[in-house]
Amino acid sequence: MESNAAKRYHASMTQENTNVITRFAPSPTGNIHLGNVRTALFSYLLGMNFKGKFILRCEDTDQERSEEAFLQQQQVDLKWLGIDWSAGPDMNSEHGPYRQSKRLDIYNKYYAELEEQAIAYPCFCTATELKIMRNAQMQSGKPPRYSGICSHLAAEEVAEKKANGDSFSLRFKVPVDETMRLTDLVVGDKVYQSNDIGDFIIRRSDGTPAFFFCNAIDDSLMGVTHVLRGVDHLTNTPRQVMILNSLNLRAPEYGHISLVVATDGGPLSKRDGSTGVKDLREQGYLAQAIVNHLARLGHNYANTAFMSLEQLAEEFALAHCGRSPSKHDPVQLMHWQKEAIMHSSDDQLKAWLLPILQENALFQNASCEQQNLFIDTIKNNISLPSDALGLAGNLLGDELKYSTDADVQVKGASKNLFAALAAHIAEHGVENFSPSMKEVGKVVGVKGKGLFMPIRSAISGETHGPEMQRIATMLGTDKVVTRLKQAAELAA
Ligand code: GLU
Repeated sequence: MESNAAKRYHASMTQENTNVITRFAPSPTGNIHLGNVRTALFSYLLGMNFKGKFILRCEDTDQERSEEAFLQQQQVDLKWLGIDWSAGPDMNSEHGPYRQSKRLDIYNKYYAELEEQAIAYPCFCTATELKIMRNAQMQSGKPPRYSGICSHLAAEEVAEKKANGDSFSLRFKVPVDETMRLTDLVVGDKVYQSNDIGDFIIRRSDGTPAFFFCNAIDDSLMGVTHVLRGVDHLTNTPRQVMILNSLNLRAPEYGHISLVVATDGGPLSKRDGSTGVKDLREQGYLAQAIVNHLARLGHNYANTAFMSLEQLAEEFALAHCGRSPSKHDPVQLMHWQKEAIMHSSDDQLKAWLLPILQENALFQNASCEQQNLFIDTIKNNISLPSDALGLAGNLLGDELKYSTDADVQVKGASKNLFAALAAHIAEHGVENFSPSMKEVGKVVGVKGKGLFMPIRSAISGETHGPEMQRIATMLGTDKVVTRLKQAAELAA
């Protein structure tokens, strides 16, 4: 259920609010997968829904785990999906750079401001000391929180430790006895007690900014109005709002969307098929399929039809974002894949299939007309380009290989049927293959499956596949007749 505050909020948002800025802020520590790209998609759709802007920010403060190659790949994957940004790490724009490792001067200015106001203080506690403190708190049944010990250091002690070269982090001093009420765009009203939050690190001892800090500062400085992100970040929000409030910086509205999980409710893994965007693309999934699938994971569209990105944006509503974990079902993805194929133009299908088909000698040697005919024949019967490869042998080649089931069908049918149809087609051609087949079936005394299955098997080598008239047209009269005669020899 949507909270009252959230309802009021949604009602107050007008459909067109060009000041809305949403963002995706991945760390370049891996390739994007269905979980995090869904966050990108929702943010993009929300921005576009308001005719606002969507920006991309690279959160690369973890120098050890960040890699340039991941940053590049993330951009390739997003663009391929149609998720494009108006400001990002690849361009010079206002409020940039959009890459955190290039913004250290900006963060330093705000650190200094917080230190000046005594809202941040250096902490010299070592990892071992912190661990001992945590263990002691847990043993006495208290939640593990930083004790605040370094906030009591006298200025001389701080100076001495610094002069000694002791390493230190910078902690944000959380106000005492404050109640914070936040309305999450998805989760609704939340109340936080500042006393439950220990003073937290905003700059690590190696000088790099901590996530809480630079993420919040950047959202504010880049004019982000709406942050949509995974619910695993929900408890970070009060800390981030505190930082921004103490610096008099405007905080964005935050919305935390449910996590994407596997069908059994567990984390996504290889068992659930590929979940990396790059892997899915390489397997032949279409961008439109992925987008239609993801847009419905944790967001309810009344419209169940296949939609373009523009339509998905038009019908996107925060009020339709659910709170329970969203299950990624590969069967659903395949449903959208088939829809995406059906909604692709012939040129798009050709571009999609060519890279894999060009590896096939039969396809390569076929005339352009034959190639087009082949694609047209199979397009409703394939889900991935590799399926097309499987069909190329029998449809483009001279040799016919029966599948096990087709072999049974051919051998179990009557010689007469094949021989009569071969004669009929030789005389009338393949243009009216389906009516011819029915006519011959009547004469021979077979109909329905008993007619279609053996004939389909005889001409295509498979018991299922493209429409028979299409197959016959594609093969042409001579090949169809030869195959029917061949079947007559094998039949009972
Ligand atoms: N870099 C953070 C992440 O990838 C961003 C979190 C956020 O969206 O605020 O988890």
